Amino acid sequence: MTQPKRITSFHPPRRTLLGPGPSDMNPRVMTALAQPAIGYLDPAFVTMMEELKELMRYAYQTSNPLTFPLSGPGSVGMEACFVNLVEPGDKVIVCRNGVFGGRMIENVERCGGTPVILEETWGEPIDPQKLEDLLKAHPDTNIVAFVHAETSTGAQSDAQALCDIARRHGALTIVDCVTSLGGTPVLLDAWQADATYSGSQKCLSCTPGLSPVSYSERAIEKVKARKQGKVQSWFMDLNLVLAYWGETARTYHHTAPGNSLYGLHEALLLLREEGLENAWARHRRNYEALKAGLEAMGLTYVVPEAARLPQLNSVYIPNGIDDLTVRKTLLNDYNIEIGAGLGPLAGKIWRFGLMGYSSQPTNVLLLLSALSAVLGEMGYRHDGGVAESAAHHAYAEQHAAAAKAKRA
Ligand SMILES: *Cc1c(COP(=O)(O)O)cnc(C)c1O
Repeated sequence: MTQPKRITSFHPPRRTLLGPGPSDMNPRVMTALAQPAIGYLDPAFVTMMEELKELMRYAYQTSNPLTFPLSGPGSVGMEACFVNLVEPGDKVIVCRNGVFGGRMIENVERCGGTPVILEETWGEPIDPQKLEDLLKAHPDTNIVAFVHAETSTGAQSDAQALCDIARRHGALTIVDCVTSLGGTPVLLDAWQADATYSGSQKCLSCTPGLSPVSYSERAIEKVKARKQGKVQSWFMDLNLVLAYWGETARTYHHTAPGNSLYGLHEALLLLREEGLENAWARHRRNYEALKAGLEAMGLTYVVPEAARLPQLNSVYIPNGIDDLTVRKTLLNDYNIEIGAGLGPLAGKIWRFGLMGYSSQPTNVLLLLSALSAVLGEMGYRHDGGVAESAAHHAYAEQHAAAAKAKRA
């Protein structure tokens, strides 16, 4: 018999996560994750759940009572919105300007709905006028679904405008806020969005595997008034999940991922301590500095400036530079993870994420310095140090502007 391979404890390498998620976790979140397990109906746990819902309502800027974390990644949040709201025969307009809009179409089809697709150029935000026109052509539309922050390109759509148009035409909205929540304004009550989902590992910087969701009264009414019987997914059926996460009766549905929920509680608490506006401003400041550095190196952005997500920066790969070699060198020599292009943009772009706890000046400077060194070695012509210098200059301008505002 051959000797079994000796297996030892797993110790992940220390990386700096500057891709499309997961992002780095604050040490306080890691400490929370490492606390002892308790029962999912333990009174102490139930108290934590109530706080979690309150913190989530703050992050989402909503008073929706039905705001809670689903056990599962952002994809489960997406699927839950579709299986509950879309009945066989429903007409659903899906706006597609990247990978995640494509997944929404899949969901509509699997629920027996009829998707009507609004195609938008990848890298562009959804044009509200196109939605208006499509709703006029399809007045029997039940639901409009769109991605607020398209992580595959770094484009942000105008959620307020899209929700307003859908509501005027009597359609409910499903809004993907996976990458926007905590990074750029997500204002559910102001938008009057109906079903929204997010993810724990992007700008919330928690461990992956949880999906904060929020449903409006209108969305709940639609689920309760389903004409065609039960929601086809037992696990995601809102009526059943509510037995555990609802206001009153609390009974077993599935074993809640307790430690992950401690982590989310801490991550959302960190967000509240910082303040949403301050978190959004921090993402913007670090984006400004990164942009200054990338542009000083001669790199160009995929998304027009007005629609850019500060937490997800996609730039074109310069001609003659090998995508994989750059990403491998950044990972192996500098412990930096960045994102590759997806779909039609594979091999053409890089995606630099500055999400949540990863959005820090030290990471901006580290990334610019490492990228400049790697590109230089590969023969990409630019002045060494020019990127870091531009970023420092951007920060200095921000500091001067802040000092001036303070004096005024
Ligand atoms: C990451 C992401 C998802 C999927 O989330 P997972 O946690 O990977 O399942 C959905 N939509 C968008 C916009 C995302 O960025």
